[in-house]
Amino acid sequence: MRVFTASLATETNTFAPMPTGLASFKDEGGYFPAGTHPDQMTFFAGPLWAARQRARECGWQLIEGLVAGAQPSGITTRLAYETLRDELLADLRAALPLQMVLLGLHGAMVADGYPDCEGDLLTRVRAIVGPEVVVGAELDPHHHLSAAMVSQADLLIAFKQYPHTDVLERAFELVDLCAAQVAHRRRPVASVVDCQMAVMVHTTREPAQGFVQRLQALEGRDGVLSISLTHGFPWGDVPDMGTKLLVYTDGRPAEGAALARRLADELIALRAQLDPPWQDIDGAIDEALAAPPGLVVIADSADNPGGGAAGDSSFILRRLIERGIAGAALGPLWDPQAVRIAFDAGVGARLPLRLGGKVGPMSGDPLDADCTVKALVRDMAMSGLAGTRQPLGDCALVQAQGVEVVLISRRSQAMGTDLFSQLGCDLTQRRLVVVKSSQHFRAAYAPLAVRIVYASAPGSVTNNLQLLDYRHIQRPKWPIDA
Ligand SMILES: [Zn+2]
Repeated sequence: MRVFTASLATETNTFAPMPTGLASFKDEGGYFPAGTHPDQMTFFAGPLWAARQRARECGWQLIEGLVAGAQPSGITTRLAYETLRDELLADLRAALPLQMVLLGLHGAMVADGYPDCEGDLLTRVRAIVGPEVVVGAELDPHHHLSAAMVSQADLLIAFKQYPHTDVLERAFELVDLCAAQVAHRRRPVASVVDCQMAVMVHTTREPAQGFVQRLQALEGRDGVLSISLTHGFPWGDVPDMGTKLLVYTDGRPAEGAALARRLADELIALRAQLDPPWQDIDGAIDEALAAPPGLVVIADSADNPGGGAAGDSSFILRRLIERGIAGAALGPLWDPQAVRIAFDAGVGARLPLRLGGKVGPMSGDPLDADCTVKALVRDMAMSGLAGTRQPLGDCALVQAQGVEVVLISRRSQAMGTDLFSQLGCDLTQRRLVVVKSSQHFRAAYAPLAVRIVYASAPGSVTNNLQLLDYRHIQRPKWPIDA
């Protein structure tokens, strides 16, 4: 069997200040032209990684096309999307004839002129390979599920866990179900229900954890092949944004539609319990100080670069310093200029630094502080999810009064705790740590924490969706509309 795999992925925050251009993929993301993907799984190349293993086991001929991913940011430029899309499609044409196409997509890429990039891409893929070739894609659950995506692909499977620790498990499901279809052993038929809402589904706690476990228990029985829950990505202002249920049955559309409806109704009934409790900045600090001894993690969700924010906001850092909080750490703060200055000054230097607040109003004002440079590491990387690595560029640890701040040169959210430990900051000896992340931090930080607090600060990934000036989403949509 001849199998093609490729990946094109980013999550576009249409409210975020920085565009996603070609450099966001080529210089700062992961960009691997056809045949150059490394011998380690990257986050959106789960299908490639699973297909490599199956190809070895089953004797398939695997042709690897472009793999390109960018750290989430604002609207993707037309040039970036069209350039990368056309590179991927040229790789696909060169690989013909094929029996199977496996794509790693995110599903929430929005480009200038393209509100549904994945629908556009899958339509073009289908036009090239024709109706008989099996086309499957793995998605991040924070995608916008469109009619074009569902109609042009034979199978779409989203990660089930949030944090997304199950990239490889879902990729193997995709590869194996697509292979079964090539062998005429399965005929997936999609059923979709729109829940008319946009919710964060934190699968680390109930009731979302139990809901996802029920989905998994239903798969593989009674003709149910796969069930994906589209969380949606509320910071993408496009018509397809929202929470949806996607059920694939083995040629049983009526049963699939009834199951999708029943599961959607279950989730709608749970919706008010899905979001975590939020605290304003001072409330979050107060809750941390009142917690039992040990480390408290405060999530600065609104400035999560993984949701398209700059990752340089100063709102929480400013309050920690103004309140004279001691024993605190914060990171990662994206500030390549401050890193450059810290490297020039050297370890042990004491100097005034202007920290963060540089990209725009959502970043707050820059914070001027007398800092001590405590550690410097060139070209650092941290542990990511599902065994991946996340490059951070040159990094510095600086002490700004009672707060140790990790400054990074390459934007990322907090995922591994080695973000701090590689710079000598031992979190187990700290009272609290503020992380720029919405939920992915939990995989590594929860085992160290006596408590986790979700802070509602200003930022591009604000949890207060009523603040966002939506123009294109379908209404009404809970909780934006009552
Ligand atoms: Zn996601």
